[in-house]
Amino acid sequence: MQRGIFIFIGPPGAGKGSLSQLCAQQLGWVQLSTGNLCRQHIAHQTHIGKQIDFTMKSGKLISDSLILDMIEGWLIDQVNSGDSIILDGFPRTVAQAQALDQLLKKDIFASYHFSIMHMLLADETIVGRLASRLVCQNTQCQAVYSMRDMALAPKKAMTCDFCSTDLTRRADDSEETVRERLTVYNRHAQDLIKYYKTVGKEIFELPVERPISEIFNDLVTMIGYDYNKK
Ligand code: AMP
Repeated sequence: MQRGIFIFIGPPGAGKGSLSQLCAQQLGWVQLSTGNLCRQHIAHQTHIGKQIDFTMKSGKLISDSLILDMIEGWLIDQVNSGDSIILDGFPRTVAQAQALDQLLKKDIFASYHFSIMHMLLADETIVGRLASRLVCQNTQCQAVYSMRDMALAPKKAMTCDFCSTDLTRRADDSEETVRERLTVYNRHAQDLIKYYKTVGKEIFELPVERPISEIFNDLVTMIGYDYNKK
């Protein structure tokens, strides 16, 4: 099976994190969530964390250069692991997509195929979904749960299935910040999709207002993944 780099593009609340978790569990893929990386920096009060704290809490995007600095080394390191890679929440702007295209021209990425998943969800659904989202407080884990979708609920109330740490709500999941994040997403996503179409990349459209098991099965079918060849 050829290794892949999978880009998940979708509004806040589309379930990028939940779907990434499922792909990691079921298919052995590795996930890079730029949002998780940002939250780790903030929790550890690193130099970068102090710079991005306010921007992130207000629902705006972190500068392209900071995000690119964060992901470049990680991506190169992953090549040795031999696994397929999910980029969850990156790229978010055309500048990031262009920088990623340049990076992927390196010989070490020649054996990967590149797929873009565009997750489709109505704006009205988003605020409700995020109001019921819980995340693991352990910044090394940050697993995602839902209080209203039984398939995504933790086995034990308010406790992470993976590391038993307490669950919490994300600082940027308040209604006001979610609306700002959605505005920011809508501002950039159209340009991003247009860019990928212009450079001739195939985009798989994935409606996500349905059970996660169906979404996962569709994704596997779309990319022609054969479990037996894992
Ligand atoms: P997420 O966890 O993907 O919802 O991202 C949470 C927040 O992290 C965003 O609202 C941004 O402030 C920041 N962030 C994550 N990924 C990026 C990115 N690729 N570019 C800029 N900011 C990002």
